[in-house]
Amino acid sequence: MMSNHYTHAEREALMQKVQMRMSNKRFQHVLGVEKTAVALAEIYGASPIKASIAALTHDYAKERSDDEFKQVIRQNGFDLDLLHWHNAIWHGIVGADFVQRELLIDDEEILQAIRLHTTGAADMSLLDKIIYVADYIEPGRDFPGVEEAREIALVDLDQAVAFETKHTLLHLINQEAVIYPKTIETYNYWVANFRRELP
Ligand code: GDP
Ligand code: FE
Ligand code: FE
Repeated sequence: MMSNHYTHAEREALMQKVQMRMSNKRFQHVLGVEKTAVALAEIYGASPIKASIAALTHDYAKERSDDEFKQVIRQNGFDLDLLHWHNAIWHGIVGADFVQRELLIDDEEILQAIRLHTTGAADMSLLDKIIYVADYIEPGRDFPGVEEAREIALVDLDQAVAFETKHTLLHLINQEAVIYPKTIETYNYWVANFRRELP
């Protein structure tokens, strides 16, 4: 489904399934991510169809209960270390599994973009970067630095990934939040590593 063609009706049907699973506020965020992701896909030469589908589904599982996530982690072969984490980490990595089973989306590029949308990764495809950045800069976001992130995203997607990663990590550290190791990997690759490569 939704891989060889993508009609207006298919997009509408997908939107409706997503909308049923979340608050209106979150759904408006999803639509903002979609608009942003499609625009970035057009700038950077990715598939706008995949950008639309990945954006519409990236937070699909975010309002599921912790118990449902834990059950899926145990039953569907996920690393059991995930049981020690929480919704912020689960809704992408494990959320992709809900998208695949319930929305019948089997496109591996889309599923991977969903998996990586919160933490990023050292190794990210163009679509992964687009969803990661669109989630951060969509028009509904309002936090110090978002305007700068939007400007960077229009000219250099990799730099936007680095900017977002650094600022998310700074935010998490200020909150004294536990940092998921993948988030550190993302930082090491996109921020620390890139800086060393500068003249
Ligand atoms: P949203 O789902 O659209 O709200 O955005 P995200 O999926 O990007 O982020 C969800 C939450 O996870 C945000 O509050 C992030 O700050 C938080 N987050 C991102 N990385 C980490 C991490 O490594 N550890 C923890 N504890 N939270 C994180
Ligand atoms: Fe999310
Ligand atoms: Fe999101």
